[in-house]
Amino acid sequence: MRVGIFGGTFDPPHLGHLIAAGDAHALLALDRVLWVPASEPPHKPAASRTRPGLRMEMVEAAVAGDERFQVNNLELRRPGPSYTVDTLRELRDRWPGADLVLLLGADALRDLPTWRAPDEIIRLARLAVLSRRGDRVPGSSFAALSVPVTRIDISATEIRRRVQRGVPIRNLVPDSVRNIINRERMYLAT
Ligand code: ATP
Ligand code: MG
Repeated sequence: MRVGIFGGTFDPPHLGHLIAAGDAHALLALDRVLWVPASEPPHKPAASRTRPGLRMEMVEAAVAGDERFQVNNLELRRPGPSYTVDTLRELRDRWPGADLVLLLGADALRDLPTWRAPDEIIRLARLAVLSRRGDRVPGSSFAALSVPVTRIDISATEIRRRVQRGVPIRNLVPDSVRNIINRERMYLAT
């Protein structure tokens, strides 16, 4: 079994994520893609963080009914910051025979040497860089598959800004996610 691991803050999940994960599923012949919301993104200010339960609910809503995708809460269950190496260890224990493929943006691949235990990460999983079709993937000291996904120009940051300014987000996030954002009055204050 080949399992893709798609980590992120997902605050909120958007169509860019869904398209990239779907392309990676097809191009890498993955059996499934596990979406793994991160518990505490160290690089984001605490005040701007949406609580994990809501990010989880939004990701569940975004992938609901799509059998290619599954949400995994193992990083949210673990206290403290999320380390990819711990996540991969847990997944390896759960599926000893599985071929784990860690899906990364090009920027993440560049930062990998600074992560906890990069050598163990690459023993536990194959790396796949989600590159924009046509983009050159930056060099790396770690071997990675390059996956030319359709990368549409949407970011969670832009979604949050639009909500804050009252600009529509319809068609940028699934309707189910938009409903949660509205219900919870998320992203209205900066
Ligand atoms: P933010 O704007 O808050 O940084 P984001 O939109 O980049 O959010 P993340 O949760 O940080 O979303 O991203 C999770 C993963 O999805 C990362 O690997 C990132 O490279 C990838 N990703 C983000 N936006 C897109 C997109 N438009 N197309 C393809 N992949 C994307
Ligand atoms: Mg980002």
